[in-house]
Amino acid sequence: KVRTRFAPSPTGLLHIGGVRTALFSWAFAKKHGGQFVLRIEDTDLERSTPESVAAIMDGMHWVGLDYDEGPFYQMQRMDRYKAVIQHLLDSGHAYYCYCSKEELEAQRTDAESRGEKPRYNRAWRPETGKTLPAIPSDITPVVRFKTPMGGSVVWYDQVKGRIEISHDELDDLILARPDGTPTYNFCVVVDDWDMQITHVIRGDDHVNNTPRQIVIYQALDATVPLFAHLPMIHNDQGVKLSKRRDAVSVVDYDKQGILPEALLNYLARLGWGHGDDEIFSLTQFVEWFDLKGVSGSPSRMDRDKLLWTNAQYIKAADPAQLAARVAGFMADKGVAIEGGPALADVCALLKDRCQTLVEMADQAAYFYSALTPTQDIADKHLTPDDEERLKLFAEAAAALETWDAPSLGALIKEFVKQQGVKMPQVGMPIRAKVCGITNTPSVDAVLALIGREEVLRRLVA
Ligand code: GLU
Repeated sequence: KVRTRFAPSPTGLLHIGGVRTALFSWAFAKKHGGQFVLRIEDTDLERSTPESVAAIMDGMHWVGLDYDEGPFYQMQRMDRYKAVIQHLLDSGHAYYCYCSKEELEAQRTDAESRGEKPRYNRAWRPETGKTLPAIPSDITPVVRFKTPMGGSVVWYDQVKGRIEISHDELDDLILARPDGTPTYNFCVVVDDWDMQITHVIRGDDHVNNTPRQIVIYQALDATVPLFAHLPMIHNDQGVKLSKRRDAVSVVDYDKQGILPEALLNYLARLGWGHGDDEIFSLTQFVEWFDLKGVSGSPSRMDRDKLLWTNAQYIKAADPAQLAARVAGFMADKGVAIEGGPALADVCALLKDRCQTLVEMADQAAYFYSALTPTQDIADKHLTPDDEERLKLFAEAAAALETWDAPSLGALIKEFVKQQGVKMPQVGMPIRAKVCGITNTPSVDAVLALIGREEVLRRLVA
């Protein structure tokens, strides 16, 4: 039975690298009829905050990735970690180390002076026939893991292929600090073991932790899960995404008017592909997804591609659902929509021409109150001649029997003919006057929606 997990550390907002990891883990579990677990890795007390936990939960909810179990919190599992450390001590896989800070520091400088990687000298590591130093009274010990000597750790990474790391590369990892609190790599192992995780799918910034974790599984006689390390996401300059430089948190995308479905679709294509298929549903993704298809090299965030993807989702969306989302952006802009046309009708008219919901809200604004045209637009489309013609048009429009798009279309056509001008010479001034901008959908549809009374008012204003 496949079980995967997403294990964010609550030290900031949920960012899109995390969402992609979650998405792949989630999809893998769904595909195999398994379970997806959410675990909050909150043992770093200095950097973990409740606000961040809330932000992660909100983010997961926003993107719509549901979990079958959890959230589990590491801080609530302390007793369990302590029990497992005791078990490792009892079974001879761990030992107390009374090395002082100064001693460790000396070992470090010593190694560095020889150009070697700093490593604990294993003075307190028990071996048969070895006499350990006398226990100092002024030191509270740490618990260290007794990493096997000689040999190596091998795993077949589901993305990176076979990886082998010599045991000698691994230090005798600290499992518990002097105050008894367990360390990160150890907690992860106990959790993944207890939660019966079969596939650990995570960012490849953790690939160095994997051999350290595998040796602990082995000491516990626990089944080692399969690992899949996903390559990092780089920004459009080819550098690792940074929280400071790039839009990285899901909240940023929400604020920019990106639909969660579109973001997921975009992220699915980031480092994984299914031929040339660009737009597909989550259900389709689950069916197609395979760790074998995950690329081994970093993927690049492509803003234009994301916007294009979003535009496809906006185009395909149900106007009422778009309206529900756009309403918030309208409120943010201070545009009151009461008394104006139904927002869903406006969204229906605009959905083929917007890349984001923010853009849609910007364009929707003129359906509720005229925007002031820029000087440029006024100079070009609202000359005294244009204004004269607009007055005549207003009179004709006032007399129109039925106020709908086909009748308005016919009226405008007739008016153009009668004035002996070309279509844009009427269409553009109407847009400039009524909307304030000239980049709008077909003018008859726009006027129909805004409504007779309001259009006439704006035409003569
Ligand atoms: N808590 C880790 C992180 O947020 C993930 C650890 C893991 O997936 O094993 O980077």
